[in-house]
Amino acid sequence: MSTTIEKVSCLIIGSGPAGYTAAIYTSRANLTPLLYQGIQPGGQLTITTEVENYPGYPDGVQGPDMMVHFEKQAKRMGTDIRYGLATKVDFSNRPFKVWIDEEKEINADTVIIATGASAKWLGIESETRLNGHGVSACAVCDGFFFRGKEVAIVGAGDTAAEEAHYLSKLCTTVHMFVRRDQMRASKVMQDRVMNTPNIKMYFNTDTEEILGEKTVNGVRIKNNKTGETQEIPVSGFFVAIGHEPNSGIFKNFLETDETGYIKTVPGTSKTNVEGVFACGDVQDKNYRQAVTAAGSGCMAAIDAERFLAAHGH
Ligand code: NDP
Repeated sequence: MSTTIEKVSCLIIGSGPAGYTAAIYTSRANLTPLLYQGIQPGGQLTITTEVENYPGYPDGVQGPDMMVHFEKQAKRMGTDIRYGLATKVDFSNRPFKVWIDEEKEINADTVIIATGASAKWLGIESETRLNGHGVSACAVCDGFFFRGKEVAIVGAGDTAAEEAHYLSKLCTTVHMFVRRDQMRASKVMQDRVMNTPNIKMYFNTDTEEILGEKTVNGVRIKNNKTGETQEIPVSGFFVAIGHEPNSGIFKNFLETDETGYIKTVPGTSKTNVEGVFACGDVQDKNYRQAVTAAGSGCMAAIDAERFLAAHGH
């Protein structure tokens, strides 16, 4: 391991709306923050298309463009923005230690975690092999490619319901696979999919294999009650089975809930380690919006600033 150590007062990990907002606020408060972008600079919004619900864009904006705007604004305020992934932390003492790409060590008086969440996958071989070739975890991003075709979607929560409904407007038939005998989605969303004639529901259904060599041409499903299998020809396969917070590297130091979301003191961004703050989707499984993430990034910046002031910085 290299011995390069850099000392900063505020380290921000992550580059979605939460991370960049924290960067804008901490820069303007003269904390000279350092921000590491992680493996997906710009975060989940870089894999969406039109964003119509972010205030201040009356005509809507493309997700990737919006994240370029966030980055530019943070840069203009003076944030040191770098490409790199936090791979290990030690929060047992201050300054906190964070390793970037397994070699560079940062010592930080405060850390703002804004690492977001990632889509969950089924974990079958054909899903990995055909990812980007008909397999997608974002109907809104990729549905367009399957206009006028048959597709399948797996999942039973609000996201799956919303995405199935979105796909039903583009595709001839949407085959929806639910692993139990009921959906988890809210009643209103369930009613919406049930009442959409071209969404065909399959309950107690597991995906055995996504079929196709270079691109998806079908899916083999199995009824987990009867054991009966069936092949359905589809051109696209969408996975909408929830998200996972990117909190793995912090779990030895920070309290999380049973699904890995970092716990914060209600109404603040404070974690159980004084001086470490969390914002955005890594601590929010409820709202998960760009605007709520940005708001919580602002909270984290103000909490970090107050913490530093109280500790004589
Ligand atoms: P959820 O965790 O709510 O749902 C995930 C779904 O995927 C569950 O139905 C689960 O099945 C199913 N699932 C998980 N793993 C597998 C697997 N390996 N194979 C098959 N199915 C699987 O995630 P969502 O992303 O849907 O929603 C997250 C949160 O965001 C929720 O609180 C939701 O209400 C909210 N949300 C709200 C929206 C709105 O109000 N418009 C829109 C989108 C999200 P099982 O039920 O059997 O566990």
